[in-house]
Amino acid sequence: MTANIIDGKAFAATVREKVAGHVARLKEENGITPGLAVVLVGEDPASQVYVRSKGKQTVETGMNSYEYKMDADTSEADLLAVVEKLNNDPEVHGILVQLPLPGHLNEDLIINSIDPAKDVDGFHISNVGLLGTGQKSMVPCTPLGCLMMLRDYHGSLSGMNAVVIGRSNIVGKPMAQLLLGDSCTVTIAHSRTKDLPEVVRGADIVVAAVGRPEMVPGDWIREGATVIDVGINRIEWDGKNKLVGDVDFESASKVAGAITPVPGGVGPMTIACLLANTVTACCRANGLAEPEGLTA
Ligand code: NAP
Repeated sequence: MTANIIDGKAFAATVREKVAGHVARLKEENGITPGLAVVLVGEDPASQVYVRSKGKQTVETGMNSYEYKMDADTSEADLLAVVEKLNNDPEVHGILVQLPLPGHLNEDLIINSIDPAKDVDGFHISNVGLLGTGQKSMVPCTPLGCLMMLRDYHGSLSGMNAVVIGRSNIVGKPMAQLLLGDSCTVTIAHSRTKDLPEVVRGADIVVAAVGRPEMVPGDWIREGATVIDVGINRIEWDGKNKLVGDVDFESASKVAGAITPVPGGVGPMTIACLLANTVTACCRANGLAEPEGLTA
């Protein structure tokens, strides 16, 4: 069997198109332009690349992009003041504080100071609670992207066995909540899970979010299963840098029914979902109907 490739790059382009269409309607019919503010503290090179890319895509979809670059030694009080200013700014519908923050800043404190209605990363404790209790929330972008691709490929996920490998607050736990919300039977595996290969073999859907290059080989995958590879790992191969996932694509794609590649799978969906969340937040803030197919 050769797996169908779930093309995240192409799917993300369709999400961005939907976002742009909705933004155009908001401008024309309501005179509102959604705005996303991104706060970057320090000079982490990877974070700088992400922030640049987020700003560019925000503008390309017709939204306003606001960037706040702060020094690495910014005090907690100064950062909290910027968040407070953005919370109170009616032109700003989404706020994202780029993680990781420098070590002297308390990430939980900062994230929980964002107005939950503008928390487009979905990391605020209120949004985590709302998602966990099946209520309307802002949903973390990476798992939202995975869910969109799974729904698009399968239609209904009801009754499927899903195994999520990884229990981080950013990916694993919200992913499991979303799959549960779509009536999957969900197992969350982690570094202490006993007999992980056997657990994974029981899955109709495998979501790997571990951060270990090519850890999941094809012989862990049930024939015909759908594999979503969240991992982004940089390895050296043939003297060059190469990006690989948490799944061994070569062997897994011979048994899986469908699989996301790395790169070009989950990665492009994350920013697309950030834009989607910003439009959703803008509609909610203005009491307008939410765009269909852009939320969980
Ligand atoms: P994380 O916070 O480091 O969590 C990793 C999880 O994997 C932990 O729950 C850990 O278990 C589990 N784990 C580690 N070794 C394991 C093993 N041998 N067997 C089973 N489970 C194991 O990572 P994360 O932030 O969730 O990110 C995971 C991966 O996704 C990374 O490669 C990251 O770069 C990528 N990522 C991609 C995107 C995207 O846009 N595509 C977004 C976010 C993250 P314990 O809890 O027991 O330690």
